[in-house]
Amino acid sequence: MNVGCVPSKIMIRAAHIPHLQTSHPFEGMSRRAPEIERPSLVRQQQARVEALRHAKYEKILETNPNIHLVRGWARFRDAHRLIVRRPDGSETEVAADRILLATGSRPAIPDIPGLAETPYWTSTEALVAEEIPEHLVVLGGSVVALELAQAWLRLGARVTVMARSRFLSKEDPALGEGLVRVFEEEGARVLLHTVPEAVRYEDGRFILDTPAGEIRCDRLLVATGRRPNTEGLALEKAGVETAADGAIVVDDHMRTSADHIYAAGDCTDQPRYVYVAAAAGTRAAVNMTGGDAALDLSAMPAVVFTDPAVATVGYSEAEADRQGIETDSRTLELENVPGRSPTSIPVVSSSWWPKGPVAACSVPRCWRRRPARSSRRRRWRSAAA
Ligand SMILES: Cc1cc2nc3c(=O)[nH]c(=O)nc-3n(C[C@H](O)[C@H](O)[C@H](O)COP(=O)(O)OP(=O)(O)OC[C@H]3O[C@@H](n4cnc5c(N)ncnc54)[C@H](O)[C@@H]3O)c2cc1C
Repeated sequence: MNVGCVPSKIMIRAAHIPHLQTSHPFEGMSRRAPEIERPSLVRQQQARVEALRHAKYEKILETNPNIHLVRGWARFRDAHRLIVRRPDGSETEVAADRILLATGSRPAIPDIPGLAETPYWTSTEALVAEEIPEHLVVLGGSVVALELAQAWLRLGARVTVMARSRFLSKEDPALGEGLVRVFEEEGARVLLHTVPEAVRYEDGRFILDTPAGEIRCDRLLVATGRRPNTEGLALEKAGVETAADGAIVVDDHMRTSADHIYAAGDCTDQPRYVYVAAAAGTRAAVNMTGGDAALDLSAMPAVVFTDPAVATVGYSEAEADRQGIETDSRTLELENVPGRSPTSIPVVSSSWWPKGPVAACSVPRCWRRRPARSSRRRRWRSAAA
Protein backbone atom coordinates (compact mmCIF):
# COMPACT_ATOMS: atom_id res chain seq x y z
CA MET A 1 0.00 0.00 0.00
CA ASN A 2 2.39 2.64 1.24
CA VAL A 3 5.22 1.87 -1.18
CA GLY A 4 3.08 1.19 -4.25
CA CYS A 5 -0.59 1.82 -4.57
CA VAL A 6 -1.01 5.13 -2.72
CA PRO A 7 2.18 7.00 -3.78
CA SER A 8 1.83 5.84 -7.38
CA LYS A 9 -1.68 7.25 -7.67
CA ILE A 10 -0.50 10.60 -6.27
CA MET A 11 2.51 10.67 -8.62
CA ILE A 12 0.34 9.79 -11.64
CA ARG A 13 -2.11 12.57 -10.80
CA ALA A 14 0.71 15.07 -10.35
CA ALA A 15 2.28 14.07 -13.67
CA HIS A 16 -1.07 14.59 -15.39
CA ILE A 17 -0.93 18.34 -14.67
CA PRO A 18 2.19 19.18 -16.77
CA HIS A 19 0.78 16.97 -19.51
CA LEU A 20 -2.40 19.04 -19.58
CA GLN A 21 -0.35 22.27 -19.46
CA THR A 22 1.59 21.30 -22.56
CA SER A 23 -0.93 19.35 -24.58
CA HIS A 24 -4.56 19.74 -23.51
CA PRO A 25 -7.01 19.32 -26.40
CA PHE A 26 -8.94 22.59 -26.02
CA GLU A 27 -8.78 25.74 -28.11
CA GLY A 28 -8.82 29.14 -26.45
CA MET A 29 -6.45 28.19 -23.63
CA SER A 30 -2.70 28.60 -23.80
CA ARG A 31 -0.25 25.75 -23.57
CA ARG A 32 3.05 26.19 -21.79
CA ALA A 33 6.07 24.26 -20.65
CA PRO A 34 5.66 23.43 -16.95
CA GLU A 35 8.21 24.15 -14.25
CA ILE A 36 8.58 21.06 -12.11
CA GLU A 37 10.28 20.93 -8.74
CA ARG A 38 10.39 17.23 -8.15
CA PRO A 39 11.64 17.31 -4.50
CA SER A 40 8.55 19.31 -3.48
CA LEU A 41 6.27 16.86 -5.27
CA VAL A 42 7.91 13.93 -3.48
CA ARG A 43 7.67 15.70 -0.11
CA GLN A 44 3.96 16.37 -0.55
CA GLN A 45 3.30 12.84 -1.84
CA GLN A 46 5.08 11.16 1.06
CA ALA A 47 3.38 13.41 3.62
CA ARG A 48 0.04 12.24 2.24
CA VAL A 49 1.18 8.61 2.36
CA GLU A 50 2.19 9.04 6.01
CA ALA A 51 -1.10 10.77 6.89
CA LEU A 52 -3.12 7.95 5.31
CA ARG A 53 -0.92 5.30 6.89
CA HIS A 54 -1.68 6.77 10.28
CA ALA A 55 -5.39 7.44 9.73
CA LYS A 56 -6.21 4.12 8.07
CA TYR A 57 -3.88 1.64 9.78
CA GLU A 58 -1.84 2.77 12.76
CA LYS A 59 -4.75 4.59 14.41
CA ILE A 60 -6.81 1.39 14.29
CA LEU A 61 -4.05 -0.44 16.16
CA GLU A 62 -3.66 2.38 18.69
CA THR A 63 -7.38 2.62 19.44
CA ASN A 64 -8.09 -1.09 19.71
CA PRO A 65 -6.71 -2.53 22.95
CA ASN A 66 -7.47 -6.07 21.79
CA ILE A 67 -4.82 -5.85 19.08
CA HIS A 68 -1.27 -6.46 20.26
CA LEU A 69 1.32 -5.31 17.71
CA VAL A 70 4.69 -7.06 17.55
CA ARG A 71 7.06 -5.42 15.05
CA GLY A 72 9.46 -7.71 13.22
CA TRP A 73 9.84 -10.52 10.69
CA ALA A 74 7.83 -13.65 11.42
CA ARG A 75 8.49 -17.29 10.52
CA PHE A 76 6.86 -20.51 11.64
CA ARG A 77 8.40 -22.64 14.37
CA ASP A 78 5.58 -25.16 14.03
CA ALA A 79 1.94 -25.12 12.99
CA HIS A 80 0.81 -22.99 15.96
CA ARG A 81 3.92 -21.02 16.91
CA LEU A 82 5.73 -18.16 15.15
CA ILE A 83 9.14 -16.69 15.86
CA VAL A 84 9.32 -12.93 15.35
CA ARG A 85 12.71 -11.33 14.80
CA ARG A 86 12.49 -7.76 16.07
CA PRO A 87 14.34 -4.83 14.42
CA ASP A 88 16.96 -4.91 17.25
CA GLY A 89 17.75 -8.57 16.44
CA SER A 90 16.03 -10.08 19.46
CA GLU A 91 13.43 -12.80 18.94
CA THR A 92 10.09 -13.48 20.52
CA GLU A 93 7.59 -16.29 20.15
CA VAL A 94 3.90 -15.85 19.40
CA ALA A 95 1.43 -18.74 19.71
CA ALA A 96 -2.07 -18.75 18.22
CA ASP A 97 -4.92 -21.13 17.48
CA ARG A 98 -5.77 -19.29 14.22
CA ILE A 99 -3.26 -17.49 12.00
CA LEU A 100 -3.75 -15.10 9.06
CA LEU A 101 -0.87 -14.69 6.61
CA ALA A 102 -0.81 -11.34 4.78
CA THR A 103 2.85 -10.79 3.92
CA GLY A 104 2.33 -9.20 0.52
CA SER A 105 4.71 -9.29 -2.44
CA ARG A 106 7.89 -7.67 -3.70
CA PRO A 107 9.26 -6.86 -7.17
CA ALA A 108 10.36 -9.89 -9.21
CA ILE A 109 13.76 -9.27 -10.77
CA PRO A 110 14.40 -11.09 -14.06
CA ASP A 111 17.53 -13.17 -14.46
CA ILE A 112 19.33 -10.91 -16.95
CA PRO A 113 23.15 -11.20 -16.92
CA GLY A 114 24.70 -8.25 -15.09
CA LEU A 115 21.41 -6.71 -13.91
CA ALA A 116 21.81 -7.68 -10.24
CA GLU A 117 25.13 -5.75 -10.04
CA THR A 118 23.59 -2.48 -11.24
CA PRO A 119 21.76 0.19 -9.20
CA TYR A 120 18.45 -0.38 -10.96
CA TRP A 121 15.19 1.03 -9.60
CA THR A 122 12.15 -0.95 -8.64
CA SER A 123 8.81 0.84 -8.25
CA THR A 124 9.80 1.62 -4.66
CA GLU A 125 12.73 3.82 -5.70
CA ALA A 126 11.01 5.21 -8.81
CA LEU A 127 8.17 6.60 -6.71
CA VAL A 128 10.38 8.67 -4.42
CA ALA A 129 13.22 9.68 -6.76
CA GLU A 130 13.84 13.40 -6.50
CA GLU A 131 15.65 13.86 -9.81
CA ILE A 132 13.92 13.55 -13.14
CA PRO A 133 15.94 11.11 -15.26
CA GLU A 134 17.30 12.29 -18.55
CA HIS A 135 16.59 8.89 -20.13
CA LEU A 136 14.64 6.24 -18.22
CA VAL A 137 14.39 2.70 -19.57
CA VAL A 138 11.46 0.73 -18.14
CA LEU A 139 11.52 -3.06 -18.29
CA GLY A 140 7.99 -4.47 -18.26
CA GLY A 141 4.71 -4.13 -20.09
CA SER A 142 2.13 -4.55 -17.38
CA VAL A 143 0.36 -2.31 -14.88
CA VAL A 144 3.20 -0.95 -12.74
CA ALA A 145 5.60 -0.52 -15.69
CA LEU A 146 3.08 1.36 -17.81
CA GLU A 147 1.72 3.58 -15.04
CA LEU A 148 5.20 4.67 -13.95
CA ALA A 149 6.59 4.97 -17.49
CA GLN A 150 3.85 7.39 -18.48
CA ALA A 151 4.16 9.36 -15.25
CA TRP A 152 7.91 9.87 -15.75
CA LEU A 153 7.37 10.70 -19.41
CA ARG A 154 4.96 13.43 -18.41
CA LEU A 155 7.34 14.74 -15.75
CA GLY A 156 9.89 15.32 -18.49
CA ALA A 157 12.06 12.20 -18.77
CA ARG A 158 12.84 10.60 -22.11
CA VAL A 159 11.35 7.12 -21.72
CA THR A 160 11.95 3.78 -23.45
CA VAL A 161 9.61 0.92 -22.52
CA MET A 162 10.84 -2.59 -23.21
CA ALA A 163 8.24 -5.36 -22.91
CA ARG A 164 8.91 -9.10 -23.10
CA SER A 165 5.69 -9.62 -25.09
CA ARG A 166 3.14 -6.88 -25.65
CA PHE A 167 1.51 -4.24 -23.44
CA LEU A 168 -1.03 -5.73 -21.02
CA SER A 169 -0.49 -9.19 -22.46
CA LYS A 170 -3.29 -10.74 -20.36
CA GLU A 171 -5.92 -8.37 -21.71
CA ASP A 172 -7.69 -7.95 -25.05
CA PRO A 173 -4.88 -7.13 -27.55
CA ALA A 174 -6.71 -3.99 -28.71
CA LEU A 175 -6.17 -2.38 -25.30
CA GLY A 176 -2.39 -2.84 -25.34
CA GLU A 177 -2.14 -1.79 -28.99
CA GLY A 178 -4.04 1.39 -28.20
CA LEU A 179 -1.73 2.18 -25.29
CA VAL A 180 1.34 1.65 -27.48
CA ARG A 181 -0.02 4.28 -29.88
CA VAL A 182 -0.71 6.68 -27.01
CA PHE A 183 2.77 6.19 -25.53
CA GLU A 184 4.41 6.75 -28.92
CA GLU A 185 2.30 9.85 -29.59
CA GLU A 186 3.47 11.21 -26.22
CA GLY A 187 7.09 10.62 -27.24
CA ALA A 188 8.03 7.29 -25.64
CA ARG A 189 10.03 4.68 -27.50
CA VAL A 190 8.28 1.31 -27.26
CA LEU A 191 10.12 -1.96 -27.88
CA LEU A 192 7.80 -4.98 -27.79
CA HIS A 193 8.97 -8.61 -27.65
CA THR A 194 12.32 -7.31 -26.44
CA VAL A 195 14.37 -8.44 -23.45
CA PRO A 196 17.87 -7.14 -22.72
CA GLU A 197 20.53 -9.83 -23.23
CA ALA A 198 22.84 -8.18 -20.68
CA VAL A 199 23.03 -5.04 -18.55
CA ARG A 200 26.05 -3.21 -17.15
CA TYR A 201 26.64 0.05 -15.33
CA GLU A 202 29.61 2.24 -16.25
CA ASP A 203 30.37 5.85 -15.35
CA GLY A 204 26.88 6.55 -14.07
CA ARG A 205 25.09 5.06 -17.07
CA PHE A 206 23.30 1.79 -17.71
CA ILE A 207 24.22 0.01 -20.93
CA LEU A 208 21.70 -2.53 -22.17
CA ASP A 209 22.53 -5.02 -24.91
CA THR A 210 19.25 -5.67 -26.68
CA PRO A 211 18.12 -7.22 -29.97
CA ALA A 212 17.36 -3.62 -31.03
CA GLY A 213 20.99 -2.61 -30.38
CA GLU A 214 22.81 -1.03 -27.46
CA ILE A 215 20.69 1.30 -25.34
CA ARG A 216 22.16 3.73 -22.81
CA CYS A 217 20.24 5.44 -20.04
CA ASP A 218 20.85 7.12 -16.70
CA ARG A 219 18.02 5.26 -14.91
CA LEU A 220 16.65 1.76 -15.30
CA LEU A 221 13.30 0.76 -13.79
CA VAL A 222 12.63 -2.95 -13.44
CA ALA A 223 8.86 -3.53 -13.26
CA THR A 224 8.49 -7.08 -14.54
CA GLY A 225 5.99 -8.43 -12.04
CA ARG A 226 5.83 -9.25 -8.35
CA ARG A 227 6.70 -12.29 -6.22
CA PRO A 228 4.87 -13.33 -3.05
CA ASN A 229 6.76 -12.82 0.23
CA THR A 230 6.66 -16.42 1.39
CA GLU A 231 10.19 -17.83 1.23
CA GLY A 232 11.23 -16.66 4.70
CA LEU A 233 8.09 -17.89 6.45
CA ALA A 234 9.10 -21.58 6.80
CA LEU A 235 5.61 -22.52 5.61
CA GLU A 236 6.58 -26.18 5.39
CA LYS A 237 6.75 -26.30 9.21
CA ALA A 238 3.06 -25.38 9.30
CA GLY A 239 1.92 -27.56 6.40
CA VAL A 240 0.93 -24.58 4.22
CA GLU A 241 1.11 -25.37 0.49
CA THR A 242 2.32 -22.95 -2.14
CA ALA A 243 2.09 -22.84 -5.93
CA ALA A 244 5.22 -23.08 -8.12
CA ASP A 245 5.80 -19.30 -7.85
CA GLY A 246 5.64 -19.40 -4.04
CA ALA A 247 2.09 -18.01 -3.76
CA ILE A 248 0.04 -19.49 -0.92
CA VAL A 249 -2.81 -21.55 -2.35
CA VAL A 250 -6.17 -20.49 -0.89
CA ASP A 251 -9.79 -21.40 -1.58
CA ASP A 252 -12.66 -18.92 -1.83
CA HIS A 253 -12.81 -18.79 2.00
CA MET A 254 -9.08 -17.90 2.18
CA ARG A 255 -8.34 -21.27 3.79
CA THR A 256 -4.87 -22.65 3.19
CA SER A 257 -3.99 -26.34 3.22
CA ALA A 258 -3.60 -26.08 7.02
CA ASP A 259 -7.00 -26.02 8.76
CA HIS A 260 -6.31 -23.17 11.17
CA ILE A 261 -4.19 -20.98 8.85
CA TYR A 262 -5.73 -18.46 6.46
CA ALA A 263 -4.04 -16.14 3.96
CA ALA A 264 -5.06 -12.99 2.10
CA GLY A 265 -3.61 -10.46 -0.32
CA ASP A 266 -0.55 -10.47 -2.54
CA CYS A 267 1.09 -13.45 -0.81
CA THR A 268 -1.69 -15.72 -2.14
CA ASP A 269 -2.59 -16.99 -5.60
CA GLN A 270 -5.38 -14.39 -5.90
CA PRO A 271 -5.11 -11.30 -8.16
CA ARG A 272 -2.73 -8.69 -6.71
CA TYR A 273 -4.95 -5.66 -6.07
CA VAL A 274 -5.45 -3.77 -2.87
CA TYR A 275 -9.23 -4.16 -2.91
CA VAL A 276 -8.87 -7.94 -3.42
CA ALA A 277 -6.50 -8.02 -0.43
CA ALA A 278 -8.95 -5.99 1.66
CA ALA A 279 -11.98 -8.06 0.65
CA ALA A 280 -10.08 -11.29 1.23
CA GLY A 281 -8.79 -10.08 4.61
CA THR A 282 -12.23 -9.20 5.94
CA ARG A 283 -13.69 -12.50 4.73
CA ALA A 284 -10.79 -14.41 6.25
CA ALA A 285 -11.49 -12.67 9.59
CA VAL A 286 -15.14 -13.70 9.42
CA ASN A 287 -14.23 -17.30 8.61
CA MET A 288 -11.53 -17.48 11.28
CA THR A 289 -14.07 -16.50 13.92
CA GLY A 290 -16.73 -19.03 13.03
CA GLY A 291 -18.51 -17.28 10.13
CA ASP A 292 -18.93 -18.30 6.51
CA ALA A 293 -17.90 -15.72 3.90
CA ALA A 294 -16.74 -16.54 0.38
CA LEU A 295 -14.91 -14.23 -2.03
CA ASP A 296 -16.33 -14.30 -5.55
CA LEU A 297 -13.75 -13.00 -8.03
CA SER A 298 -15.62 -14.06 -11.16
CA ALA A 299 -16.43 -10.47 -12.11
CA MET A 300 -13.50 -8.69 -10.49
CA PRO A 301 -13.01 -5.16 -11.84
CA ALA A 302 -9.49 -3.88 -12.53
CA VAL A 303 -8.12 -0.50 -13.59
CA VAL A 304 -4.75 0.45 -15.03
CA PHE A 305 -4.16 4.12 -14.23
CA THR A 306 -2.57 5.07 -17.51
CA ASP A 307 -4.13 7.91 -19.46
CA PRO A 308 -6.43 6.84 -20.99
CA ALA A 309 -7.10 4.39 -18.20
CA VAL A 310 -7.85 0.76 -18.94
CA ALA A 311 -10.74 -0.82 -17.08
CA THR A 312 -11.79 -4.44 -17.28
CA VAL A 313 -14.40 -6.52 -15.56
CA GLY A 314 -15.49 -10.10 -15.97
CA TYR A 315 -14.35 -12.28 -18.85
CA SER A 316 -12.39 -10.92 -21.77
CA GLU A 317 -13.77 -11.82 -25.18
CA ALA A 318 -11.11 -14.54 -25.54
CA GLU A 319 -11.90 -16.02 -22.11
CA ALA A 320 -15.62 -16.03 -22.89
CA ASP A 321 -14.88 -17.80 -26.19
CA ARG A 322 -12.87 -20.42 -24.33
CA GLN A 323 -15.85 -20.98 -22.00
CA GLY A 324 -18.15 -21.44 -24.98
CA ILE A 325 -20.01 -18.20 -24.30
CA GLU A 326 -21.18 -16.18 -27.28
CA THR A 327 -20.18 -12.52 -27.13
CA ASP A 328 -21.12 -9.37 -28.98
CA SER A 329 -18.20 -6.91 -28.90
CA ARG A 330 -17.93 -3.38 -30.15
CA THR A 331 -14.78 -1.32 -30.59
CA LEU A 332 -15.05 2.43 -30.37
CA GLU A 333 -11.98 4.49 -31.21
CA LEU A 334 -11.29 7.02 -28.51
CA GLU A 335 -11.34 9.93 -30.96
CA ASN A 336 -15.12 9.49 -30.87
CA VAL A 337 -15.20 10.32 -27.16
CA PRO A 338 -15.92 14.05 -26.66
CA GLY A 339 -13.18 16.01 -24.91
CA ARG A 340 -10.38 13.54 -25.67
CA SER A 341 -7.47 14.36 -27.88
CA PRO A 342 -7.56 12.29 -31.06
CA THR A 343 -5.49 9.41 -29.78
CA SER A 344 -6.56 6.03 -30.88
CA ILE A 345 -6.96 3.66 -27.96
CA PRO A 346 -10.18 1.76 -28.49
CA VAL A 347 -13.07 1.19 -26.18
CA VAL A 348 -13.86 -2.52 -26.40
CA SER A 349 -17.22 -2.40 -24.82
CA SER A 350 -20.69 -3.53 -24.07
CA SER A 351 -23.85 -1.62 -23.38
CA TRP A 352 -22.25 -0.83 -20.03
CA TRP A 353 -20.40 2.49 -19.84
CA PRO A 354 -18.06 3.31 -16.98
CA LYS A 355 -18.14 6.51 -14.97
CA GLY A 356 -15.17 8.80 -14.45
CA PRO A 357 -11.94 9.00 -16.38
CA VAL A 358 -12.00 5.42 -17.58
CA ALA A 359 -11.55 5.31 -21.31
CA ALA A 360 -11.17 1.71 -22.24
CA CYS A 361 -13.14 -1.23 -21.04
CA SER A 362 -13.67 -4.79 -22.06
CA VAL A 363 -16.90 -6.51 -21.20
CA PRO A 364 -18.64 -9.27 -23.09
CA ARG A 365 -22.00 -7.81 -23.96
CA CYS A 366 -24.39 -10.64 -24.32
CA TRP A 367 -23.64 -13.93 -22.61
CA ARG A 368 -25.41 -17.01 -23.79
CA ARG A 369 -24.04 -20.46 -22.94
CA ARG A 370 -23.57 -22.81 -25.84
CA PRO A 371 -21.13 -25.58 -26.76
CA ALA A 372 -17.54 -24.38 -27.17
CA ARG A 373 -17.12 -26.13 -30.52
CA SER A 374 -19.69 -23.98 -32.22
CA SER A 375 -18.47 -20.79 -30.56
CA ARG A 376 -18.40 -17.91 -32.97
CA ARG A 377 -17.41 -14.33 -32.47
CA ARG A 378 -19.19 -11.37 -33.90
CA ARG A 379 -17.37 -8.14 -33.90
CA TRP A 380 -17.93 -4.91 -35.65
CA ARG A 381 -16.44 -1.48 -35.52
CA SER A 382 -18.62 1.53 -35.22
CA ALA A 383 -18.29 5.27 -34.84
CA ALA A 384 -21.00 5.22 -32.22
CA ALA A 385 -21.22 3.08 -29.09
C1 LIG B 1 3.67 0.58 -7.84
C2 LIG B 1 2.42 -0.16 -7.42
C3 LIG B 1 1.18 0.36 -7.71
C4 LIG B 1 0.04 -0.30 -7.35
N1 LIG B 1 -1.16 0.26 -7.66
C5 LIG B 1 -2.32 -0.36 -7.31
C6 LIG B 1 -3.57 0.21 -7.64
O1 LIG B 1 -3.65 1.27 -8.25
N2 LIG B 1 -4.69 -0.44 -7.27
C7 LIG B 1 -4.64 -1.62 -6.60
O2 LIG B 1 -5.68 -2.17 -6.29
N3 LIG B 1 -3.46 -2.19 -6.26
C8 LIG B 1 -2.30 -1.60 -6.62
N4 LIG B 1 -1.09 -2.16 -6.29
C9 LIG B 1 -1.08 -3.45 -5.58
C10 LIG B 1 -1.36 -3.25 -4.08
O3 LIG B 1 -0.42 -2.35 -3.55
C11 LIG B 1 -1.26 -4.60 -3.41
O4 LIG B 1 -2.18 -5.48 -4.00
C12 LIG B 1 -1.59 -4.51 -1.91
O5 LIG B 1 -0.72 -3.63 -1.25
C13 LIG B 1 -1.48 -5.89 -1.29
O6 LIG B 1 -1.72 -5.79 0.09
P1 LIG B 1 -1.14 -6.87 1.09
O7 LIG B 1 -1.66 -6.49 2.44
O8 LIG B 1 -1.39 -8.23 0.59
O9 LIG B 1 0.45 -6.68 1.02
P2 LIG B 1 1.38 -5.46 1.39
O10 LIG B 1 0.65 -4.16 1.29
O11 LIG B 1 2.61 -5.66 0.58
O12 LIG B 1 1.70 -5.67 2.94
C14 LIG B 1 2.43 -6.80 3.37
C15 LIG B 1 3.14 -6.46 4.67
O13 LIG B 1 3.68 -7.65 5.23
C16 LIG B 1 5.00 -7.39 5.67
N5 LIG B 1 5.75 -8.67 5.71
C17 LIG B 1 6.28 -9.39 4.69
N6 LIG B 1 6.87 -10.51 5.13
C18 LIG B 1 6.73 -10.50 6.49
C19 LIG B 1 7.13 -11.38 7.53
N7 LIG B 1 7.80 -12.49 7.30
N8 LIG B 1 6.82 -11.04 8.80
C20 LIG B 1 6.13 -9.90 9.10
N9 LIG B 1 5.72 -9.03 8.15
C21 LIG B 1 6.01 -9.32 6.87
C22 LIG B 1 5.55 -6.42 4.63
O14 LIG B 1 6.66 -5.73 5.15
C23 LIG B 1 4.32 -5.51 4.46
O15 LIG B 1 4.29 -4.53 5.44
C24 LIG B 1 0.10 -1.53 -6.64
C25 LIG B 1 1.35 -2.07 -6.32
C26 LIG B 1 2.50 -1.41 -6.71
C27 LIG B 1 3.84 -2.00 -6.37
